[in-house]
Amino acid sequence: MAAKLIKGAEVAAQIRAELKQEVEELKAKHNIVPGLVTILVGQDPGSVSYVTAKQKTSHELGFYSIQDNQEPDITEAALLALLDKYNKDPKIHGILVQLPLPKHIDSNKVLYGINPDKDVDAFHPVNVGRILIGNYAFLPCTPAGCQELIYRAYGDPKGKEVVVVGRSNIVGKPMVAIMIQKRVGANATVTCVHTGTPKDKMIEHCRRADILIVAAGVPNYIQADWVKEGVCVIDVGVNRIGMTESGKAKLAGDVDFAAVSEKASFITPVPGGVGPMTITMLMKNTVMAAKLAAGLVKL
Ligand code: NAP
Repeated sequence: MAAKLIKGAEVAAQIRAELKQEVEELKAKHNIVPGLVTILVGQDPGSVSYVTAKQKTSHELGFYSIQDNQEPDITEAALLALLDKYNKDPKIHGILVQLPLPKHIDSNKVLYGINPDKDVDAFHPVNVGRILIGNYAFLPCTPAGCQELIYRAYGDPKGKEVVVVGRSNIVGKPMVAIMIQKRVGANATVTCVHTGTPKDKMIEHCRRADILIVAAGVPNYIQADWVKEGVCVIDVGVNRIGMTESGKAKLAGDVDFAAVSEKASFITPVPGGVGPMTITMLMKNTVMAAKLAAGLVKL
């Protein structure tokens, strides 16, 4: 294999160590302890494991942390009232509502009920707008994790051709918005391709990429002859393609890893690439929210 593996767990551990030090300094110098509440409605096993991992990490970093479990039949009004309570709680800087929510609750209404300054997932329209304008505190966790991986492993993408495959609101679109910022770690020339792009054009765009970020949700989609020699590949895709003999889900990314890694200079594996970064970026946003609340950073 020619490509260097970008190991998400190692980069995530490095960022967590930096955050831990920042949390200690915030406490010592300003008496601030970042506070995070994770709200879980029902007991969906996938959601339980995500929330548990978020809580575990926030405890490890020294946050004030609350896990708020609600019954699956909680009304939308009661959930909004709960958000209002946390919106007003000065000890809580970040509010995360674990998705998906039960069908009787309008997820958008709930996400829009979070105070944008505590919206550590950065899904609130106010934060989406702030990002586009370039005056923001938080970035959505998965694309922010991709940016960190690129910056720390490959280098500054300034002036590079970045091609993003996919335009979802949680990955593709914010990825574009992040990489076009006039900032360190961005300032790239960005193209976004999607199902509206004719396939031959899509391949043409992918072949131009210095950095190719793929979030399509199609297993092993990107082929070796669609990329140029030396490309940096960030594979966001997580696709279940069967079961292992031990009964675990067998995962594949959106990139034909074996073939593409022969041509790439850097590549993220699946699993173990982008995945470990997402929770770490949530923690980074919570520290930022605490600094924002204290006036240590301003928008
Ligand atoms: P999504 O909401 O399904 O969006 C997929 C996007 O890819 C859409 O914009 C779609 O285009 C585009 N697309 C689909 N097929 C395509 C094709 N053949 N050619 C070009 N574009 C195509 O998915 P998502 O939430 O962005 O997630 C994408 C992948 O990343 C999934 O595998 C997901 O599991 C994974 N993911 C991983 C993490 C992590 O932490 N590692 C986090 C989030 C997501 P249209 O808009 O035209 O439909």
